[in-house]
Amino acid sequence: MYKHPLLDRDKMTTKEALDILKEGNQRFVNNLRENKDYPSLLGITKNQQHPFASILSCSDSRAPVELIFDQAIGDIFSVRLAGNIASNDAIGSLEFGIKYLKSKLLVVMGHTSCGAVKACCDHFEDGSITEVISKITPCLDLEDITKDDRNSGNVDFVQNVSNLNVKQQIKEILNSSKIIAECHEKKDILIIGAMYNIETGEVNFFES
Ligand SMILES: [Zn+2]
Repeated sequence: MYKHPLLDRDKMTTKEALDILKEGNQRFVNNLRENKDYPSLLGITKNQQHPFASILSCSDSRAPVELIFDQAIGDIFSVRLAGNIASNDAIGSLEFGIKYLKSKLLVVMGHTSCGAVKACCDHFEDGSITEVISKITPCLDLEDITKDDRNSGNVDFVQNVSNLNVKQQIKEILNSSKIIAECHEKKDILIIGAMYNIETGEVNFFES
């Protein structure tokens, strides 16, 4: 039976919160997902929530956060936008998850073969997509390794930009959000970047 750790979350350390995600991803990769009692979880969470992690990740249909970390109702405060961009609305949502719902962890997670990153690499423009892409654009200048084929056809270039984008969005969050910067300074939360591999199902966390 799945044991919902909701009641112990005040005592949870940031490292324990990270370990829960790492262990959950291992279960997902090994096809050993826990059997969750959803009706019971609905009862436990109907009047309260205490998600241990707030995660900013991409809208991509191949990167469903709860599934890849083998988590359930009430576990993750999930903000998903194409390119895992830290827009003002995304940051406001994360502030809510961290300050008021007391998440211990803030993860910014990109993924391999991200369409938003690829679009940025090709300087794609269309409608409001242009604004989303513009939040990734600074990473093109930051990528100074690739000399030729700086476009979406170059897998290594795309991946380098994706890695830089995760770091860039973390920087954006800390620069724009006093609330999150304060929680981070007080060590109430751990902020960490991550990269999800859509082929293997594995999440690699960046060194913090
Ligand atoms: Zn994506």
